[in-house]
Amino acid sequence: MSFEPLGLSAPLLKAVQKQGYTTPSPIQQKAIPAILEGNDVLASAQTGTGKTASFTLPLLHFLSENTNSKFKSIRALILTPTRELAAQVYANVKAYSEFLNLKSAVIFGGVNQKPQAATIRNGVDVLVATPGRLLDLQNQGLLSLKHIEFFILDEADRMLDMGFLRDIERVIKLMPSKRQNLMFSATYSKSIKTLAKSFLNAPVQIEVTPENTTVEAINQSVYRVAKGLKTGLIIKLISEGNWKQVLVFTRTKHGANRLCEKMVKAGITAAAIHGNKSQGARVRALSGFKNGTVRVLVATDIAARGLDIPLLPHVINYELPNVSEDYVHRIGRTGRAGAKGEALSLVCAEETSYLTAIEKLIDMKLPVSIIEGFEPDPNASTAPIKQGQGRQRKPRQGNASNSSRNSGRNSSKKSNASRRR
Ligand code: AMP
Repeated sequence: MSFEPLGLSAPLLKAVQKQGYTTPSPIQQKAIPAILEGNDVLASAQTGTGKTASFTLPLLHFLSENTNSKFKSIRALILTPTRELAAQVYANVKAYSEFLNLKSAVIFGGVNQKPQAATIRNGVDVLVATPGRLLDLQNQGLLSLKHIEFFILDEADRMLDMGFLRDIERVIKLMPSKRQNLMFSATYSKSIKTLAKSFLNAPVQIEVTPENTTVEAINQSVYRVAKGLKTGLIIKLISEGNWKQVLVFTRTKHGANRLCEKMVKAGITAAAIHGNKSQGARVRALSGFKNGTVRVLVATDIAARGLDIPLLPHVINYELPNVSEDYVHRIGRTGRAGAKGEALSLVCAEETSYLTAIEKLIDMKLPVSIIEGFEPDPNASTAPIKQGQGRQRKPRQGNASNSSRNSGRNSSKKSNASRRR
């Protein structure tokens, strides 16, 4: 199937072609016609499914076909939980609107608000925003949501995990009641359903699972190792394997920083990416990683979500996540679209219960190796790390405590979780 039958205008088809897309992804095939017909949509789709284009393309179509005389009013709002995701969605909006006469902007916290306010003052059709900065600017009278015709809530589950429910409710109250609404969420907890009911009108429900992306397709293995020897082992693996682009996951921001410092000392170019980093530092780290000047990117789960890294040869879990679904999300970063990928996990005694839970979720036993000189500690306790111990605390935006994510995630169905994102 090509994009032509979906009903998008010529400038959008041209932009799609320029991106090199030939076939609409399943979510695009389902969502684009439904949105073009004017329906509210509730879509279950994760990053990697092409969900951003599935709402951005019909949104841009609608705005360009239905011009509005209200000068300089914001017509569409896309709300995202994190800065990274906001920047990524904005990049999509820019790319797809290249041949249209529409203006767009992105706003998020952690950077100076002045240039953002100035852009909005000059007139913006599509605004991509994180909730905190959006409400800040609105409170200061620097933007108005009174003429919103299109509202998109992206990664709604993540929004709730990060404690944005009140902010979302406030944003909804600031918009006119007559508008088209779209909501995207990877998971469906009770609170997500309640939120959906609160603002979607008779939504068309769409569900997709990522294509041919099963965890079975990834070369996964486990190294049992003493906790104190993990850093030495990871440095050995990366150095001796001469690995060039490695995404490493740690459970905490401090852990990410510490590991990063040690790698740099060992002569491996590494950068950490997490919620405490400034936007500039994150962008630098990510672009260094993409262009090959940074070999290792050390990330926490939340910081990694929304990162637009197309394909990675190596993903290493320096620590296993205590939320099993996060394991599936993490390793889904490797070997996309049939390319060969490797996912390694360094597992110490106290992570044993996490490993068991992960194996249960993915319904497979992971092969275990022990490297000489990096053996596990036979005397270490296998008692799991206590909830909340050494975890990230919850600031307002950009990251959240992992433990708060448990509630919605553990209920995911195995059939979904055993597929990669
Ligand atoms: P998303 O799920 O929106 O994060 O998109 C994941 C990736 O797929 C992005 O890098 C998009 O540029 C890319 N993409 C989106 N739609 C298509 C398509 N129809 N064909 C090929 N790639 C696509």
